[in-house]
Amino acid sequence: MRAPRITRLSDDAHFVEAAAVNWTILAEGDDVTLIDAGYPGDLETVRYSLEAVGHRPEQITAILVTHAHVDHIGAIPALLRLAPKAQVITSAEEAPHVRREYLQQAAPKDVAANLWRPGFLGWTLHILRAGALSDPRVPEARPHTHDDLVRDPVSGLPTTGALDVPGRPVPVLTPGHTSGHTCYHLPDLGAVVTGDALATAHPTSRRRGPQLLHPIFNHDERATRAALSLLAPLPADTVLPGHGPVHRTPISAAVAAALSS
Ligand SMILES: [Zn+2]
Repeated sequence: MRAPRITRLSDDAHFVEAAAVNWTILAEGDDVTLIDAGYPGDLETVRYSLEAVGHRPEQITAILVTHAHVDHIGAIPALLRLAPKAQVITSAEEAPHVRREYLQQAAPKDVAANLWRPGFLGWTLHILRAGALSDPRVPEARPHTHDDLVRDPVSGLPTTGALDVPGRPVPVLTPGHTSGHTCYHLPDLGAVVTGDALATAHPTSRRRGPQLLHPIFNHDERATRAALSLLAPLPADTVLPGHGPVHRTPISAAVAAALSS
């Protein structure tokens, strides 16, 4: 296992860059939220990253999913065996995708047709080793509902739209890369987990900085671009992408840069 790069965002929040995909760890006391979980072959790297920041897989109480591609949900089935109480939560639109009631993912033939492009061959060989051809499904995945929201203790009403899980992320539906793709705003950190709505690098791209993934990876290219307008107004200056390093600029500037890509 190649050790991942771990960026400390606060005492309780860490961003993890594994070899080909990222995830975020949010803690509250002993409890942990994991946002995305890497390829099937990333299980040991997920475990390593949790231990590196003082936690164990058994402490995961929530796994939030940006979208159901194999590089973001691959290790979840194995993690649930270690953390049986963990809830797997995503948007209403993405939950059936995570359960594999349908699949919106670049087919192997689409990737094969692009192997001549710079970066694709090496990346493809890497992800094949990471389990890209397996088809993980997570029957436990469910949509977040009003019952999951943080509530005012006096009025009992939802306050900020945040989920009542460690880190209190606010889901932001950003359909396009997949129909239910969801980003997570972390207001306390001024950060947004952007999943594959907004990347900052990718082995198949020569570009550096905020960008969209290659169109073959997006289920709906036009919607993928349109969804960025939902991210731009968020009060955040830290981008935590599904692929690429942490990027620190106002997210509105990151969105503008990506749209020019
Ligand atoms: Zn991805």
